[in-house]
Amino acid sequence: MAKKYVYFYGLSEEQTEGDRSMKAILGGKGANLAEMSNAGLPVPPGFTLSTEACKYYSEHGGKYPQGLEKEIRAHLDQLEKGMGKKLGDPDNPLLVSVRSGAAISMPGMMDTVLNLGLNDKSVQGFIKQTGSERAGWDCYRRFIDMFGDVVMGPYTGLKHEHFEHEIEKLKKKYGAKEDTDLTAEQLKELVGIYKKVYQDKVKKPFPQDPEQQLDLSIRAVFGSWDSDRAVKYRQINKISGLLGTAVNVCTMVFGNMGDDCGTGVAFTRDPSTGESVAYGDYLKNAQGEDVVAGIRTPKHMNDMAKDKSPAWRKTHKELIQIMKRLEKHYKHPQDIEFTVERGKLWLLQTRNAKRTGIAGVRWAVEMATGKDVFTGKKQTKILSQKDALMNVGGSDLEQLLFPVFDMKEEKKANVIAEGLPAGPGAASGTIVFDADDAEAAVEKDKNARVILVRRDTSPEDVGGMWAARGVLTSTGGMTSHAAVVARGWGKCCICGASALNIDYKKKQVTVGKKVYKEGDSISLNGSTGKVYEGEIPLQSSPVVEAVIGGKAAAKKHPYYRMYEMLSGWSDTHRKMKVRTNADAPKDAAAAKGFGAEGIGLCRTEHMFFEGDRIWSIREFILAEDREGREKALKDLLKHQQKDFEGIFKEMDGLPVTVRLLDPPLHEFVPHEKKEQQEMARRLGVSARKVADRVRQLHEFNPMLGHRGCRLSITYPELCVMQTKAIIGAACKVSKLKNAVKVHPEIMVPLVGSKTELDYLENVIRTTADEIIERTGAKVKYMVGTMIEVPRAALTADQIADRAEFFSFGTNDLTQMTFGFSRDDVGTFLPEYTNRKILDVDPFQHLDQEGVGQLVKMGVERGRSVRGDLKCGICGEHGGDPDSVRFCYESGLDYVSCSPYRVPIARLAAAQAAIEE
Ligand code: PEP
Ligand code: MG
Repeated sequence: MAKKYVYFYGLSEEQTEGDRSMKAILGGKGANLAEMSNAGLPVPPGFTLSTEACKYYSEHGGKYPQGLEKEIRAHLDQLEKGMGKKLGDPDNPLLVSVRSGAAISMPGMMDTVLNLGLNDKSVQGFIKQTGSERAGWDCYRRFIDMFGDVVMGPYTGLKHEHFEHEIEKLKKKYGAKEDTDLTAEQLKELVGIYKKVYQDKVKKPFPQDPEQQLDLSIRAVFGSWDSDRAVKYRQINKISGLLGTAVNVCTMVFGNMGDDCGTGVAFTRDPSTGESVAYGDYLKNAQGEDVVAGIRTPKHMNDMAKDKSPAWRKTHKELIQIMKRLEKHYKHPQDIEFTVERGKLWLLQTRNAKRTGIAGVRWAVEMATGKDVFTGKKQTKILSQKDALMNVGGSDLEQLLFPVFDMKEEKKANVIAEGLPAGPGAASGTIVFDADDAEAAVEKDKNARVILVRRDTSPEDVGGMWAARGVLTSTGGMTSHAAVVARGWGKCCICGASALNIDYKKKQVTVGKKVYKEGDSISLNGSTGKVYEGEIPLQSSPVVEAVIGGKAAAKKHPYYRMYEMLSGWSDTHRKMKVRTNADAPKDAAAAKGFGAEGIGLCRTEHMFFEGDRIWSIREFILAEDREGREKALKDLLKHQQKDFEGIFKEMDGLPVTVRLLDPPLHEFVPHEKKEQQEMARRLGVSARKVADRVRQLHEFNPMLGHRGCRLSITYPELCVMQTKAIIGAACKVSKLKNAVKVHPEIMVPLVGSKTELDYLENVIRTTADEIIERTGAKVKYMVGTMIEVPRAALTADQIADRAEFFSFGTNDLTQMTFGFSRDDVGTFLPEYTNRKILDVDPFQHLDQEGVGQLVKMGVERGRSVRGDLKCGICGEHGGDPDSVRFCYESGLDYVSCSPYRVPIARLAAAQAAIEE
């Protein structure tokens, strides 16, 4: 049997061939249109060409798969029969839209064509059918514009601007202020002009055959999947593994036939703040692209409820009811598109709403508790705690930790404009007017803080929007391109600040009498929509204030309460522990506040740098013999023991993994001649001796050199000193008046063979046991190793014979498995991800296929000889949600990550357990 590529929806449940579970092949829009048809909601019927057809098209140089053409014709017949209209019919024409829609929504990235089927003859039929001459010519001119821009533009350079220029000229000629002021006769004149614009650029007349119109449009939508902007969007948003876009051919309904018509977009809850109120924009007498493009400023949904006309008020009621139904059905707030044609409401699409992280957290919490976190007002309970946890992402939670402006400073600052609060948080930076400039600034200096200021944004601007700290536009509503994209990223964004008069040529923006030029500083409060002159200092979030600052007032803040609830639920459901990487009491305290259940990695290198200690380690490095080195270490011992006492006290009974010194010694000596001379002077040796030693320490590949356990093996006195400091501190604090329980875990880095560990374990145990015996303290400690050299994973069964625990150092393990230097990978990795040689940076997201195998193997082989082997991860991946899930699946007991990522790891661990 031939493969099926086309699926019908609408008209009746029997005729609908898909449902929401078929997102991968029908795309999000197609699957949801089918789902809504099945639920009996008012959806204009149509059919969907599958993403598989797009994949074939893309892989075969723009050829349809066999049988597709026939299938399209058959489904079109079915649609025409059902609607009692025919495409291109001069008396009773069917008009359709051709819409893209991938499995993951990519707002505005791919193409859409509306009003397809109009030509010089069918426009007359359409006028007869609708009784509106004006609507006929308005639709026809829009169709020529969209078809020209979207379908022919990529080959001919024809653009929407070419048409826009003509309509502006015509409006001037007739003194029309808005597009809607143009009469039917004037629009008819415009159709003639548009056809000429088309012919001039395309060198062929505007196609009159509707089947040809449909065929070319389908090809354009398929083609748009591979457009530069769509490819870039997928890269930035890390979207991979999709087949392509589906194409939806939908019966047109018209929002532009008069004042009882209109079109809009709405969210079942506020997508910025998460408040449980229907939120949306609509325009009367308009078609969809007018709202989304931000050309006319739309009205708020609340205005619909107050409309003079009872029909509109009734539509508002119906809309609210449908929205509630959809939210319950999908168990997720929805983002819908609707059109009202002559008072009848039609749903054109529904999808899980994109929202800010804060809104996502608020939705999840309120839908699970059935209570507004701000007001306590009752709501319908829609989700279980588990569902709620699955609806929140790590980056959403992260947004609760976002900085806000210092309130006092913000009060003092000068408001220069106000717009819509489209993306929350706060941002300060210097103005740029061009998306490319924003990208260039950040490429030059990755800490550059720029604010992208535009009249509006288009999909071409996504790179610059991503690079900018904040985005500010002068036109458009909450659902304009800028708003939707920024919100999806959790980027601070203000839209529709209409007081801004932007001059791209002069690179300046005028507000009243004031002029701000490129490079001037401004600040945006994306939660209130206020734009300020100059920079305003940022302040940490209420969650941080509460957790780290311990401020009582912050603990009452709804953000903190939401964080608390979600984290509490996470802890109920997760089975894997979460520790932190911290090497100072202050960081340990912060991490504990965020819920860390121990320290998974205390790096000790910083303890060698602080204050005057660097001189002791330098003396150690220059010493001629063991005696000299031991003398130099004496001073360090005192300091390190104090450091560990502080950390143990802070962790108060929680396990603490301390790693022995890891970096190569050359990191501790100066490389500049002047500094070497200073070192010689301070240590009373010749400058030459210093220079010689530094030269000796030079290594071609220091990351593969004399570091990790290799240091302690060649200089056991180093291992002795560190063990004394750790165990000495543990014994001391365990005997204090306010004694703390201590569970030190001494960790040997960079082990590649069991014999390395054998050697050092002896040194550690001999030193530690002597102190414990001498002090009489009741301290139990463990000795384990990092698994960060591939050989260690391969021989994990041998190593586990000695090691009481494993901690996967996936930073080094990634480095050594790929053979990519951690320090130099930036020179080629961006090209690798751009060219899709690698989907993602393996230093951020654990390479589960490759490095992951070593992790799994390490755990399995290790536990094959030591059943209770404790296993964890302490590489950067421990705070990355996908990697955390993988760690859970691999049987790790804990993940360890930096303090601010602990809440994310708790959530990800819960999600992994729920998904299991
Ligand atoms: C690792 O290699 O993953 C690790 C945690 O150690 P470091 O990053 O200090 O080398
Ligand atoms: Mg390492």
